[in-house]
Amino acid sequence: MKSRFEYKNEGMEKGYGTIVHPVMPNKLECDVAVIGAGPNGLITAAYLARAGLKVILLERRGEIGGGLATEEVLYPCHYANTHALYHLMVEYMPALKDFNFAERGMVWVYPNAQTGMIFKDKRSILLHRMQDCTFDSILRWSEEDAMKFAGWIRVLNRMMDEILAPGTYVPPLPSLDLVVKTQKTKIGQEFLEMMEKSPYELVTETFKHPKVRAMFLYVACMWGLDPTETGAFLFPLMVNRAMHKQQCYGGSHKMASLLGKDIVTNGGLIVENAEVVKINVDNGKVSGLELFDGTEIKAKTVASTLDPQTTFIKLVGENNITPMLAERCKTWKFDKWSLWTLHIATEKPLEYDVIDDVRINESLMNIMGFENEDDVMRFYTSVRAGKLDHIGGHATCETLYDPTLVDIPGHHVSKFQFPAPYDLDGHKENWEKRKKEIEHKVLDLWLSHLKGFTRKDIIIQSSESPVDIERRIPCMVRGAIKHGDYMTLQMGYNRPDETCSSTRTPIAGLYVCGASTYPGGMVTGGPAYIASNAIAEDMGANKWWKPPQFITHYIDTYLKD
Ligand SMILES: Cc1cc2nc3c(=O)[nH]c(=O)nc-3n(C[C@H](O)[C@H](O)[C@H](O)COP(=O)(O)OP(=O)(O)OC[C@H]3O[C@@H](n4cnc5c(N)ncnc54)[C@H](O)[C@@H]3O)c2cc1C
Repeated sequence: MKSRFEYKNEGMEKGYGTIVHPVMPNKLECDVAVIGAGPNGLITAAYLARAGLKVILLERRGEIGGGLATEEVLYPCHYANTHALYHLMVEYMPALKDFNFAERGMVWVYPNAQTGMIFKDKRSILLHRMQDCTFDSILRWSEEDAMKFAGWIRVLNRMMDEILAPGTYVPPLPSLDLVVKTQKTKIGQEFLEMMEKSPYELVTETFKHPKVRAMFLYVACMWGLDPTETGAFLFPLMVNRAMHKQQCYGGSHKMASLLGKDIVTNGGLIVENAEVVKINVDNGKVSGLELFDGTEIKAKTVASTLDPQTTFIKLVGENNITPMLAERCKTWKFDKWSLWTLHIATEKPLEYDVIDDVRINESLMNIMGFENEDDVMRFYTSVRAGKLDHIGGHATCETLYDPTLVDIPGHHVSKFQFPAPYDLDGHKENWEKRKKEIEHKVLDLWLSHLKGFTRKDIIIQSSESPVDIERRIPCMVRGAIKHGDYMTLQMGYNRPDETCSSTRTPIAGLYVCGASTYPGGMVTGGPAYIASNAIAEDMGANKWWKPPQFITHYIDTYLKD
């Protein structure tokens, strides 16, 4: 592999002894060093490499991807998307169009049947891409709720298209300014009114039927919104996206792989097994960084995708930041819940025992274990309290829409997942101690909804707890899939704090652009897009990309005075 960097091989003087590697010299120089090759690090590095900057992307793991991982966690020839399986922003993410993904073999499967909820009596509700089909499904339970849904979802869809989706890709404004600007339109006013209520209030005020309420409450909160907290401005996005998820054909890692190729093609360097242990700061300005093995890299700019505690306290050092920022990092709250996942490999596809809608078997996600909104509330309350009093969650057969994940024809891989606390009953060690028992209970529930399927049909199974997530990706501290909680005080202009949410930080040349920066986690590419714009502008680089129309429309409508 060639890169346009010139470097000297001087051997390692400290750390791990002499390491000679053709692309891993012990002294490097670049314009931009990006820390972490998850979706945000990859997108940032790809935009900036194509802008003509010398970019080095450093990844602690042996393979790029971070949340875009597709791995053989079960046994040979059976792959699973261990982290991001449900891609929520495919229609909007500017990077996908800017890098011509569609013409380069990237396909996202966008199933019509999106999210099912299956009940004990073998009946179901199905959220569909087509509003009319969702309407018909709700109609089977309640005519009044179906009518409510028809009007409600139109409003939520407009909030998504006109405010939340474009807002994901522009820097945040202070809350008061944003409120004033958002009030300019009627849909903006309705959006602000909605924020005065909690997800629980919004769902129970809109719908009457307990099953319909259970469905919308679960999907609104599954990615980390507190059902009882007001100000949850992502509520319309979460509900809308429950009907618009997509799966990356060939595995989520394919997206990482393509971005990686772009970085290298444009002269960038990607270094794996390269844990960054220090960001060097001289006189308030970034000068480079240091790897675990003593390798030093000089950089004019550093972009970190790690959580604020790691970036500012561990890597930059408290002496280089203001006491206020240090306090913010130390009191940073990691996600109120993480995820627990059971992966299974089977010799036959899963077939659900449902009497009212065969399309459940085509649904990308199926939720089970909840009969009404009280069950869902009890579940989230117990998870918040570090308990697992109730078993429920969502399941997906990953090979239904992506047979490339198995190399043995006819085999399937599926997963069952649920929001889970890091400290179970007060101690993270309990996940290991209770592993068999929890796997057993989850399978009891899952199998109770499957037709002609027993434990004997499972070739192999493997579960991952929040502790495993943290081990694999340490910036997902306490298994924090979004590197930080979605509580109101850590959102918008305050993510990670008011001095850094634009991705620029008080340290000249240091940018933050991971899930803990505005707009937040999941594979949205939001922090990366905002940081790429900021870094390219600050370094006078060739900004070769243009914002798509839905973003310029938002800027013209809301942000211009
Ligand atoms: C089990 C699970 C399921 C999920 N499901 C979904 C889903 O379905 N849809 C969705 O959109 N999102 C999902 N997510 C969340 C999503 O994966 C993350 O929010 C997203 O990946 C964040 O992207 P990022 O680039 O900011 O950080 P990450 O993806 O966390 O990447 C950070 C990278 O930095 C590396 N790193 C850490 N420390 C260092 C260091 N010191 N030096 C160098 N490199 C370092 C890490 O190894 C990692 O590769 C899931 C997450 C988990 C854990």
